Amino acid sequence: MIKKVLLTIIIINFIAFFSLIIYISVTDSKIKTESDIEGQNQNITNDEYIYKEDLLSLGYNVKVIEMIEEKIANLDVKNYLLSRKYDHFEEFANSEYFNIQNIERYEEYYLKHPEYTIDQVTLYVEIGLDYDFYTNINVVEDYTSITALVNKYNQIPDDATFNNLLTLPKPYSNNGKKHVRSEMYEPLKQMIDDAKKEGIKLVVISSYRDKTVQTNLFNKYTKNNGLDYALKYSAKPRHSEHELGLAIDFNTTQPTFKKSKEYKWLKDNAYKYGFIERYPDKKEFITGFAYEPWHYRYLGVDIATKIYIENITFEEYLVKYQK
Ligand SMILES: [Zn+2]
Repeated sequence: MIKKVLLTIIIINFIAFFSLIIYISVTDSKIKTESDIEGQNQNITNDEYIYKEDLLSLGYNVKVIEMIEEKIANLDVKNYLLSRKYDHFEEFANSEYFNIQNIERYEEYYLKHPEYTIDQVTLYVEIGLDYDFYTNINVVEDYTSITALVNKYNQIPDDATFNNLLTLPKPYSNNGKKHVRSEMYEPLKQMIDDAKKEGIKLVVISSYRDKTVQTNLFNKYTKNNGLDYALKYSAKPRHSEHELGLAIDFNTTQPTFKKSKEYKWLKDNAYKYGFIERYPDKKEFITGFAYEPWHYRYLGVDIATKIYIENITFEEYLVKYQK
C-alpha cells in the first residue's frame, strides 16, 4: 500500500516537472517570435527593433527573421539584408554551404541557372563558378601544402619555388628526368610497381614544370591552336597543378587513353595511393579544364579516398569539408 502511494507521488511529481519544462519552453519561444517583433521584450534594443521592423516591411516573415537572428551574428552582415529582399533567402540559409556574405551572388547565379538545386547554387558559388575563369584570382600563400588548390581562380605566387623535388628515374618516367615533390615520390613508385604486378604499365610522361616551362607550353598551344584552345587545354603560368610538383600525366595525352586498361586500373586503384583523377569527364564546368584521363593529382590517401567514394572534384571537396 505504502509503496503504491509513493509510486503515485513520484509519478505526479514527474508529470508536474515536465509540464513546467514544456510551459517554460513554449513561453520562451513565444517571446522570441511575437513579442520580439512587436518590440515588447525588455531585452530588445531600439536598433534591433527597427532592424526587425524594416525586415518585416521588406517582406520577410517572422520565421525568416528568426532564422536571420539565429544564423547571422554579425550586425554589419545583417544590415545588408536591409538593402533588398532576397527571394530565396530561406532556402539558401538552409543549404549546407550557406555563407551570408555571398547571398547576393547566390540570387544572381540562381536566376541564371534555374536548373540547379539550391545546394548546387551555393556549392558552385562557394567554388567561385559564378565568376568568369581567370577573374577574381586568389594567390595561394600556403602553396607548399599538399592540399593547395590551383585552378583558374587560384594561382601560386609568382616567385614560388620548391626545395623538395626528387628525380623520378626510369622506368617510372619516360626519360628518367622527371621531377616530383618528395611527399608523393614513394606512393607514386609504389603505385606504378603494384600496377606492374597486375600487368598494367604506367609511365610518367610529365610532372613538375617550372614557370618558364609552363609559359612556353601555354604559348605553344596559343600559337598552334589559338587562345581559346590554349585556355581550354592548357593553363596559364602559375595556374597549372604541374607547377606544384603534385600532378602527373601518365603514358599518353592522346584521347585513346580513356579506353585503355591502364586508365581503368587508375580509376579503380589510384585513390589507394593518394591520387585522384583531377579533370574527370563532365566536370569541366567545375574544374575549368577539359577531360584529361591521364592527369592525376596527389592529395594523400584520406582525401583521395573521400573524393573517390563521393565521386566529386577537389573543388567540391574543399567547399564541403574544409570551409
Ligand atoms: Zn597534366
